[in-house]
Amino acid sequence: MFTFRRFTILFFILLMALNLIHFLGCRFDWISGHLCSHTYVYILILFGLYLGISVAMAFVIRSNFHHPAISKGKTTEKLCALTFDDGPDPENTPAILETLGRQKVPATFFVIGRNLEGNELILRDLDAGGHLIGNHSWSHANWFDFFSPHRMRRELIRTAEAIAGTIGKSPLLFRPPYGVINPMLNKALKGLGYHVIGWNIRTFDTVNPEPEKISQNVLRKLSPGSIILLHDHVAGAPGLTDHLIRLLKSNGYRIVPLTQLTQTESYA
Ligand SMILES: [Zn+2]
Repeated sequence: MFTFRRFTILFFILLMALNLIHFLGCRFDWISGHLCSHTYVYILILFGLYLGISVAMAFVIRSNFHHPAISKGKTTEKLCALTFDDGPDPENTPAILETLGRQKVPATFFVIGRNLEGNELILRDLDAGGHLIGNHSWSHANWFDFFSPHRMRRELIRTAEAIAGTIGKSPLLFRPPYGVINPMLNKALKGLGYHVIGWNIRTFDTVNPEPEKISQNVLRKLSPGSIILLHDHVAGAPGLTDHLIRLLKSNGYRIVPLTQLTQTESYA
């Protein structure tokens, strides 16, 4: 697998090779030409590629580049899972819960720790309704990806403690804020035992919450094992959820718990 660790080793091998070429090959005239007169340009290009690819891959959760993440279930059956990020929302989440209950469909809610205060009852209702609760950091701050590993780790532990204090179970499912995994988050996650969960269908409900457009987008990308990313704080989320569930069902899909789809545990 193409991982950050392997990429870094390859980078250093290439860097050493360029230096060897410059200091031995070129100096003793074993080789000559453009490579010798422009070695530093090649080294700069190499550095640029290393940084560029490392940063770009942090935004592709499915790449498993900085940390393994599950973005799709392994199945040939028409099964999929619904996930809601950034809640709980005092208005939308109970309405979504009601829709899920009516449609008899399970979902996973990746909650933000600081949103829990005052919404504890909603979290208990989600749990009592058979839905799963996952960790989505404490602050979901705009600058979260620039935090130190220590600060990120504190956020994850604080959120897990808040969830455990409310429903009596500590989550094992984690979704990174913005779906970004960088080397700091990789370090922060060490030893915490989380299953990092991505998605393979992004609904873009925060950009355009129009149910018809979202549904067409989902249908285009839908395949067995799909994990669908939604947000419960978005205006119109309950209506969209209802619309989407009907569409999935009418296309022969069964919505199952995320842990069943990904063969993971939800709580420690
Ligand atoms: Zn989020």
